[in-house]
Amino acid sequence: MGVVVTKFGGSSLANAEQVSKVLDIVRSDLRNRFVVPSAPGKRHSEDEKVTDLLLHAYSLASHGKPADEVLDYAFSRYRDIIRGLDLDLSLEDEFEIIRERIASGASRDYCASRGEYLCGKLLAAALGYEFVDPVDCIYFNERGNLDQEKTHAALSRKLGSVRNAVVPGFYGADPQGQVHVFSRGGSDVTGAIVARAVSADVYENWTDVSGFLMADPRIVPNARTISILSYRELRELSYMGANVLHEDSIFPVRHSGIPIHIRNTNRPQDPGTLIVNRVPKDRELVVTGIAGRKDFTVITLEKAMMNSEVGFGMRALNVLDRYNINFEHLPSGIDTLSIVLNSREVEPVQEELLRELQEVTECDHIEVSGNLALIATVGHGMVSTPGTSARLFSALAQAGINVRMIDQGSSELNIIVGVDGKDFEKAVAAIYDAFV
Ligand code: ASP
Repeated sequence: MGVVVTKFGGSSLANAEQVSKVLDIVRSDLRNRFVVPSAPGKRHSEDEKVTDLLLHAYSLASHGKPADEVLDYAFSRYRDIIRGLDLDLSLEDEFEIIRERIASGASRDYCASRGEYLCGKLLAAALGYEFVDPVDCIYFNERGNLDQEKTHAALSRKLGSVRNAVVPGFYGADPQGQVHVFSRGGSDVTGAIVARAVSADVYENWTDVSGFLMADPRIVPNARTISILSYRELRELSYMGANVLHEDSIFPVRHSGIPIHIRNTNRPQDPGTLIVNRVPKDRELVVTGIAGRKDFTVITLEKAMMNSEVGFGMRALNVLDRYNINFEHLPSGIDTLSIVLNSREVEPVQEELLRELQEVTECDHIEVSGNLALIATVGHGMVSTPGTSARLFSALAQAGINVRMIDQGSSELNIIVGVDGKDFEKAVAAIYDAFV
């Protein structure tokens, strides 16, 4: 019998009705031996996530204000679930401990993590599974990054000794043994780490959508669901703004080739999206997905004979390094180098940055232009299909969109085009229509 790790997002755990669906899903297959929950999320659009309530409580307490009311409200979410499911369980002692620790100055990370902790306690009791506290087996280093190998060793040892377990998402311990959390949405990463530790056959990530869509549904209303995509395609798409899964959750499972299956708690009958190492060659469409982001700035450096000057690029990038600015793309010509940057990072330092780039590279001309939107059209199929870029650019031309930048990596996994911010939505829709 295989092993499946199931991770449930906040909306799947928002109230008793949702938790009851989760329990049914877990119980429907004996292979579902390890469960990773988030904290209860929003029940409706105006609602607050438990994690946000806890962060609010922390902020009150750290300003010397009483946090009891907010905490009570957060705890009432669990009381409602327990009552709604008629569970033989009380979390009142846990609530008391949390209340006292927050009143006596517990850290922000401790507070943020309690949503998952309590949800883990609740599910473990409801399912009759063991509760495994990640503080004892998921480790971060001094820099706050996950210590992959130490975690893998401890977690596989711990989970190897239990039949079934619930491991709350989102947190672990720092080198001093204190609670440390991932960035928001980090329970996805916990799920992936657990899947690797138990050598799962599949990592099922249950959420409130039936998988990845080929394009943002706010731009393409009936966008198709992607049935299968590779880890690399997913990286490209999530980096460019398609967010169903925390972008760091790929690394632990990619390593061991464990597929991730995105599924919908509210529609378990839907096929969802499968993310694998290698996609089948005969996929119906050449393009897997289209994603993009706005608000980029391009700095173009021009210098006669740049092509034969050793170290030009290095000097330019060293300047960015000093400003701690990350570059996104580096399209270049014979005597020009363009650096595409996130506008948010450039704006506060733009003047000094330009001056320094000019001085250090001794370029003849430097130019900035803002308000660029980048759109990535992603798909392994593009490599073997002649005419893909022709199709893409004619679609943009027909829609009357001016292309300001083109970047096609030599892996041919994607074609990135830069268009004016105001043309972004129109461009995504035009590309979608050309390929789907
Ligand atoms: N509860 C945390 C958040 O709201 C972590 C997670 O849901 O993955 O970000």
